[in-house]
Amino acid sequence: MKQEISEYYKKKGYDKLYVAVNKEPRRVATLRKPNKEMASMSYAKYLYTSHYECDIADGDQIDHINGDRMDDRIENLQVISKHYNIKKDKVKKEMLLMKCPVCGEKFLFPKRNLSTHPNPCCSRRCGGIKSHWK
Ligand SMILES: [Zn+2]
Repeated sequence: MKQEISEYYKKKGYDKLYVAVNKEPRRVATLRKPNKEMASMSYAKYLYTSHYECDIADGDQIDHINGDRMDDRIENLQVISKHYNIKKDKVKKEMLLMKCPVCGEKFLFPKRNLSTHPNPCCSRRCGGIKSHWK
């Protein structure tokens, strides 16, 4: 979808902006100069750099604070180092969505703790109830 380009990127010589959604899903901005030269970046980065009128350092990324990659509101964006972003993704992946065997409530449980707690409950309270089962 073609959109109005920001002043910041106009000053850099671009005159066209296209926004697309990739498979992740995540919005991607493609910028074009009149000479057909193109640049591509995450839409979050485009919004952030346009809003603050400054580029971010090589290797730094724009992070979605609430974890929703489609939530491109400026207040949901922050710059973090690439290393931290990878770490954050990894931590997220290692959480499992479990269902409490006592109350049926869904909760997130760190995968690595499953070896010591194979059938976890959502809370200490439910754990106490379960310990009286059998
Ligand atoms: Zn429970």
